[in-house]
Amino acid sequence: MTVPIAKLSFWGVRGSTPTVDPATWRYGGNTPCLELIAPDGTQFILDCGTGLRMLGSRWAAPNGGKAPETHILVTHYHWDHIQGIPFFSPLYVENNEFHFYSFRSKFLGRDSLKQVFEAQMALPYFPVDMSAMSAKRKFKEVDGGDSFKVGENKVTARWLNHPQGCLGFRIETPAGTVSYATDNEPGDSKLDASLRELAAGADIFINDAQFTPEQLETTRKGWGHSSWLEGAKVARQMEAKTLVLFHHDPDSTDRMVDSILRQAREEFDSVFAASEGMVITLGAPGDKVQAHMPGTRTALRREAQFHAKVCGVTEGGKDFEEETMVRDVSLQGALISLKHLPRLQSELQVTMEAPGADGVQAMNLRGYVVRIDTGTEKGHVAVGVVFTD
Ligand SMILES: [Zn+2]
Ligand SMILES: [Zn+2]
Repeated sequence: MTVPIAKLSFWGVRGSTPTVDPATWRYGGNTPCLELIAPDGTQFILDCGTGLRMLGSRWAAPNGGKAPETHILVTHYHWDHIQGIPFFSPLYVENNEFHFYSFRSKFLGRDSLKQVFEAQMALPYFPVDMSAMSAKRKFKEVDGGDSFKVGENKVTARWLNHPQGCLGFRIETPAGTVSYATDNEPGDSKLDASLRELAAGADIFINDAQFTPEQLETTRKGWGHSSWLEGAKVARQMEAKTLVLFHHDPDSTDRMVDSILRQAREEFDSVFAASEGMVITLGAPGDKVQAHMPGTRTALRREAQFHAKVCGVTEGGKDFEEETMVRDVSLQGALISLKHLPRLQSELQVTMEAPGADGVQAMNLRGYVVRIDTGTEKGHVAVGVVFTD
């Protein structure tokens, strides 16, 4: 019997507007777009932010055959959640078919999402009109409270507290449950309860973490967003297994997100900060939830041979110290082979011996684990780090 596995990929994690600032490079600047492949092969896309373009450019039908059924759930109509639509190349391919789900907005009326498509592609906002989009598109209206089956998966929609409304989605697959709650602010008791319903017992609970708890209480109150502290509170209360901090503020640099993540990890055991390129596997044998970052965004590196000592924290939360050789290094980071499996998004102290003019010198660097590849060398993992100072 094969074990059911679901794969969740993060194509866009930034809130409000895309960023191209180098200080936001590590977590990524594309706006919300997630992809969930369920064990039965059903493909879900959650939101159509600018991350959707990247998903489209990597579009591949499995086994070279017909593309799987794709079901696109759109949470609401703010720019950052729809901006990728005109740039999603599979929409221009005749044989593709897409099922779109979203709510009837009181500002748009019937066929709200269809109208959003037409408005986005109306002249003079876009060079070609809707007739260029030859893929089949089916639109389904969903309301908060609805539940429906797609393949062997159950989707539940609930209203969240956000200006002009926003839906949260919970997808239950045979490999585990993913709950997607972007764009929501705590403080409305009825909607706080529906957020908790979505999160209850979820394997992955993705929650809006745009603001700091201080901002949420003062200058950003009423803006429709949440904080890492709220996410941790709901995750603990509703016994979600892993919390993913999502919808990072465009003004939050990588260092700021690092610090948000550090604080959240003090409040709740299993937390990740959503990061472009991150893939979470659900239902893998032994370890139910696995997060890794495949090497999709590797910087130019130089082959080298440095003797190094590495100190860090393992996936299980234990301190480790290990001697190794660093063979692949750049100004920004390195790929290090380790026997220990460090925790993704944790800090590593790397002391490298580098040959200089006055003989061998020790270089102390603080690295941040952005990528883990298992299975390259037996008994070792290849760990990608970015140097933060
Ligand atoms: Zn948003
Ligand atoms: Zn919004």
